[in-house]
Amino acid sequence: MTQYDATVRPDRRAELAAALGQVRSRIADACLAAGRDRSAVTMIAVTKTYPAGDVVALAGLGVTDVGENRDQEAAPKAAEVAAAGVAPRWHFIGQLQRNKCRSVVRYADVVHSVDSVRLAGALARAAAARDRPLEVLAQVSIDGDPARGGAVPDSADPDRGLGAVTGALAGSPGVRFAGLMAVAPLGWEPERAFARLAEVAAAVRRDHPGATALSAGMSADLEIAIRFGATHVRVGSALLGMRPTLR
Ligand SMILES: *Cc1c(COP(=O)(O)O)cnc(C)c1O
Repeated sequence: MTQYDATVRPDRRAELAAALGQVRSRIADACLAAGRDRSAVTMIAVTKTYPAGDVVALAGLGVTDVGENRDQEAAPKAAEVAAAGVAPRWHFIGQLQRNKCRSVVRYADVVHSVDSVRLAGALARAAAARDRPLEVLAQVSIDGDPARGGAVPDSADPDRGLGAVTGALAGSPGVRFAGLMAVAPLGWEPERAFARLAEVAAAVRRDHPGATALSAGMSADLEIAIRFGATHVRVGSALLGMRPTLR
């Protein structure tokens, strides 16, 4: 018996183990089909709306990376998980307000959702207090509509243009610019969305060769994202179950 068993009921643990097995084989099959090494793709378990006990149980099943999208929920959950003696890598994947940066840098290892120069600056200032660099991805707006989040490729906008954001991240000590993140826009075929993202990522890597991470693909479209080069897939409902509210 491990220490984890106290925090989640055995039936929940079995449910998570079964779902995890299915998601892992989907990822393995997608890697095989794409001719990619399985070790090139990291699965992030998106645990938003689910309790710390589920995170601890997933960690006990070998999950190393966990994602959350709201600081109000993630900060206490990360503290509870740490108190249980478990230390996953925390990925902050949601829209981030500048006034939350100080909180997020206390527990996050990677922030996926930087989409403006102003946010990049606030995050870099907050991260300066850390003892190790924060990994940061620039979020890309695939359809070029900044209203839905994401920096805009091929835009000269000094705050929301992708080139300005990647330049700001690459030039900030205290953060490491690691790559790009995107969500397939509503109404777009995932193939078209992730093909476009792959083009954008190739262009960004010409200027920033170390920015190799590509966070794309969720429960419904992870195979397609892997085909187009995703290095991180963010999987929520396929692992943990349907969330009560869509977010
Ligand atoms: C919730 C969320 C996910 C996971 O979505 P599922 O469809 O439940 O797998 C992935 N990425 C982001 C940014 C999210 O907010």
